[in-house]
Amino acid sequence: MYNLIVETSTNLPHDVRRAIDQAIQKENAGTRAALSLATITQNIGMADDHVLPICQDTGMLTFEVKVPVGANQIEMKKHIHEAVKQATTDGKLRPNSVDSLTGENSGDNIGEGTPIIHFTQWEKDEIDVRLIMKGGGCENKNIQYSLPAEIEGLGRAGRDLDGIRKCILHSVYQAQGQGCSAGFIGVGIGGDRISSYALAKEQLFRKVDDVNPNEDLANLEDYVLEKANTLGIGTMGFGGEATLLGCKIGAGNRLPASFFVSVAYNCWAFRRLGVTLDAENGAIQSWLYKDGDKVTFAEEEVAATSEETIDEAPREVVLEAPITEEQIRELKVGDVAVINGIMHTGRDAIHHHLMENDAPIDLNGQVIYHCGPVMLKDGDGNWHVKAAGPTTSIREEPYQGDIMKKFGIRAVIGKGGMGPKTLNALGEHGGVYLNAIGGAAQYYADCIKGVEGVDLMEFGIPEAMWHLRVEGFRAIVTMDSHGNSLHKDVEKTSLERLSQYKERVY
Ligand code: SF4
Repeated sequence: MYNLIVETSTNLPHDVRRAIDQAIQKENAGTRAALSLATITQNIGMADDHVLPICQDTGMLTFEVKVPVGANQIEMKKHIHEAVKQATTDGKLRPNSVDSLTGENSGDNIGEGTPIIHFTQWEKDEIDVRLIMKGGGCENKNIQYSLPAEIEGLGRAGRDLDGIRKCILHSVYQAQGQGCSAGFIGVGIGGDRISSYALAKEQLFRKVDDVNPNEDLANLEDYVLEKANTLGIGTMGFGGEATLLGCKIGAGNRLPASFFVSVAYNCWAFRRLGVTLDAENGAIQSWLYKDGDKVTFAEEEVAATSEETIDEAPREVVLEAPITEEQIRELKVGDVAVINGIMHTGRDAIHHHLMENDAPIDLNGQVIYHCGPVMLKDGDGNWHVKAAGPTTSIREEPYQGDIMKKFGIRAVIGKGGMGPKTLNALGEHGGVYLNAIGGAAQYYADCIKGVEGVDLMEFGIPEAMWHLRVEGFRAIVTMDSHGNSLHKDVEKTSLERLSQYKERVY
């Protein structure tokens, strides 16, 4: 179980690698989307080489276990828990299990309802264990429709295949780049609300390149994959050709009165693997999702693809805190900011705290990074960053603008963009929003050259305020102090493109 967890966290399955490789071929070289894909693939290689988490959000661990009749499930659950604890101690998993009422982090990923383990009996002699690690950013973009419904951009969706088609297309549009596109979707049709979502997540265990045995659903999968990639959302929502990398649809029976369509959205960091085990001794007999070619994304090749046809390279601006208002006002959407010096992490708990309290340090002219890193303490008591990609920024929308103004913060780094309140504050105060590449946890950890300290550790490792010294930390300006927002623009054009698919197809 330990090997399965470590491998799932650090080594992307072969079918997923091939899908990402195909996306690279589609993307026009030199665009923001192509450059983001280059960062993503570099990150995949680094995680694999160093056996470290691909993304710092190691997700909700969900084990699907098939056991021979008579297997001791209580014992197996204990083994899984032990392996989860060990992988957390070793920095292969981030402590991700938080008490829903108190916010307290259990510290070892074990808690009420976590990890999720489902057992099913079967008549084979071996044990089959599959694990998916689905992070919060994409989990928050899951969506459920109850038909009939009025769908934004697509009009009325009825209780038929055409209505289902509209729901699925819309699910990709509503995710924009916030679930770290380009993504994969699993769709569950029917059931009740709960089993419909479960069916959707189950589809994510299918291989990316399999063919649905139901002809109607196979056609719909192909249709969605093709059309979703015309919406222009692109990698990280920066615009571009590759928005969706896989679509898998399953259908179950339903009550006559209900008609649910549920969509489980998974980011590009689609971490799911499996093993078959010898039921006598627990030894791994075979690995699942590791068949076929393994694309390794050699660093030089990726760099070459992305640099070859750049017509006009984006402007690069070096920033080092404390940053002045004048420096910020010079930045425009599309610029690449290269940050050196100090930045401070802050996510949900910190933002909530800063609304009512003073900051533990002077934040005037500083950079806040929406990030919940994986950290490990060595024997001498020094902290080391093991994974540090950006988290979804929109969660801080209610606070961000106020906090920037209150403390004089000049730059915020995250992923997925922020809303109108923050955009207004950037204009009024002189601030900028920088979009880092979601999931590129190793790429960014490599830019962090030192941990200068930590405050508010009572919120737990991912939520504490880490003071990090960085070098060459690159992020793209996607919201500036002049009222421009790339996220707003992409959302608008993708809605227009979505509307092309209003007409009945089935
Ligand atoms: S790649 Fe993005 S959505 Fe996926 S787990 Fe990481 S931060 Fe979350």
